[in-house]
Amino acid sequence: MKISIILHELGHAIGLYHEHSRPDRDEYVIVHEHNIQKNRSQEFDKIPPGQYVNYSKPYDYLSIMHYGKRFFAEHSDGLTLETKDASYADLIGDAKILSFYDVMIVNAMYNCSGNCQHKICPERGFLTDSCVCFCPSPKNETWITCPGESCQTPVIDTIVYTVYNEDLTDTYVEEELSGIEFPNGSVLRVEDNRCSSNVDRFRNYTCKDGRWLSSLNECKKEVCRLPFELEPNLTLFDLREGTYISDTTQGDIKNGSSLEFHCKSVGETYYEPNRRVFECDTGSWVVKLKQGEE
Ligand SMILES: [Zn+2]
Repeated sequence: MKISIILHELGHAIGLYHEHSRPDRDEYVIVHEHNIQKNRSQEFDKIPPGQYVNYSKPYDYLSIMHYGKRFFAEHSDGLTLETKDASYADLIGDAKILSFYDVMIVNAMYNCSGNCQHKICPERGFLTDSCVCFCPSPKNETWITCPGESCQTPVIDTIVYTVYNEDLTDTYVEEELSGIEFPNGSVLRVEDNRCSSNVDRFRNYTCKDGRWLSSLNECKKEVCRLPFELEPNLTLFDLREGTYISDTTQGDIKNGSSLEFHCKSVGETYYEPNRRVFECDTGSWVVKLKQGEE
């Protein structure tokens, strides 16, 4: 059985009527009685106005509860429902998922936002049970969080920081963070891996009015972080220790260290290509010309 049919029948079970049975449906669709199968005309009856509460919902051609243009037609090419707005002629009865207004009316019928005191959504938006405002998407086919209601993924350097959910039970890897919308009130906990003290390692990113607010944390930074992968023809040389940094030793580099890039060529021969050194200064890399060079 198709998901859309299951959603439609569940819609009935929780109290939804057929959209084309609304008392005001004649303003939006024309019912062609003569094309309807015998004894099936009751499928197109209108609900008496006194029995119908519309919760300020506009007529919705895209509702999962709307019949298609040939439903219950006597002949396969007969038209039983014609939309007055011709652009919806082939869209009625073809919904695959709940429409924006399907979700809106169910939220209203069940007072899902009853606990969201004093919160008002932008025009056409509605409140969900988690007090997030949902708005129609530009194409009207489904719903999105209203502008200003959520934050885009913050730009966070995942080499330096580890990003956790609010209760620190899960981390986000970089790919997981991209493209997520975080509703207002979301909290990310961001760990600065350069900090020496465990107490100050975390700062909170809180989504408020569509923007991230971050708490300050001025920890003492004792190390710089290295990218995990270098280009295959490069290696790093630690001038202070006098050693090359290998895959196994790389990681956190202590303050005061000076590194330089070396090109790797045949055998053990290296040379300094660009005469720059990278100094770790309280957690940040500072680029300098090598001493004695110009
Ligand atoms: Zn039905």
